[in-house]
Amino acid sequence: LKATGFEEVGLLSLSSADHSEIGEVAKGLADRYEEDKIGLSLPSTRVDAFNVDLANELTRNGRRSGLTFAPEGGSERMRKVINKMVSEEDLIRTVATAYGNGWRQVKLYFMCGLPTETDEDVLQIADMAMNVIQKGREVSGSNDIRCTVSIGGFVPKPHTPFQWAPQLSSEETDARLEKLRDKIRGDKKYGRSIGFRYHDGKPGIVEGLLSRGDRRIGAVIRAVYDDGGRFDGWREHFSYDRWMQCADKTLPGMGVDVDWYTTRERTYEEVLPWDHLDSGLDKDWLWEDWQDSLDETEVEDCRWTPCFDCGVCPQMDTHIQIGPTGKKLLPLTVVK
Ligand code: SF4
Repeated sequence: LKATGFEEVGLLSLSSADHSEIGEVAKGLADRYEEDKIGLSLPSTRVDAFNVDLANELTRNGRRSGLTFAPEGGSERMRKVINKMVSEEDLIRTVATAYGNGWRQVKLYFMCGLPTETDEDVLQIADMAMNVIQKGREVSGSNDIRCTVSIGGFVPKPHTPFQWAPQLSSEETDARLEKLRDKIRGDKKYGRSIGFRYHDGKPGIVEGLLSRGDRRIGAVIRAVYDDGGRFDGWREHFSYDRWMQCADKTLPGMGVDVDWYTTRERTYEEVLPWDHLDSGLDKDWLWEDWQDSLDETEVEDCRWTPCFDCGVCPQMDTHIQIGPTGKKLLPLTVVK
């Protein structure tokens, strides 16, 4: 920090808040940087009061601006499908704690296009946001609070239970999100306190094509490159039309098209392009998990239950570790 002039430290691993000793780590960091005016952040996805405690700790000296939670699914049913076991009650209780602790803005992150999702599931995001504002006004005693709903399009990924799932088309994604926007904007009482951020569905289709593509997609990537495509991750350089034109030029000769890779549901029998790569998870276990998801059956966290034999621990030679480990966690030192 001394050498770079950076002013913020973030705990960026995928799920930092799930670390069994994160409370101690957060406290240690806050103590260490108390004098230096270094900002600390934790990109949080957990929806629980513990997370608010952590955020409070990390912003001991700072301004309490925005706090993020990720319920991910708008309806209770959707959250069962994605095994995100958070009830609306939990969420409201958590945000009430946040607003009560002086936070003025809460950001809620959701996905659109999850398997089996309907318009109704997504429209419930509006109800949730309104309940959040209502509760927030009540506990903070102020109308000056905000809730921002931020939505990303769901893209099925290999080596996950959703590797067989159909992706929602960009047209359907856009139509669904428009309905949601209208519902939020149309609400006289709370609409103006709710921000709404989303991207159109088109980039998600290209992402989906690349994510579950096989080697035939190499020809599409090459054609896009030859046509001048560069830095497509930057919105100002991204051209959906170029990707689709290049796909239309190259794929039909090989008997497939964009829909075949994206919006098509796969069957159990299909050999998937990444089946020869071992992520540690058994394919049959993933399939069962996919079926559980369709049946809205929740699966517990294996840290607190007997092992489900997903294959990871024996195949990757790892095991579940839960603190306190007695190890000294801070200060962090550079590994030589
Ligand atoms: S304990 Fe290990 S092998 Fe068992 S379900 Fe959990 S991650 Fe999979």
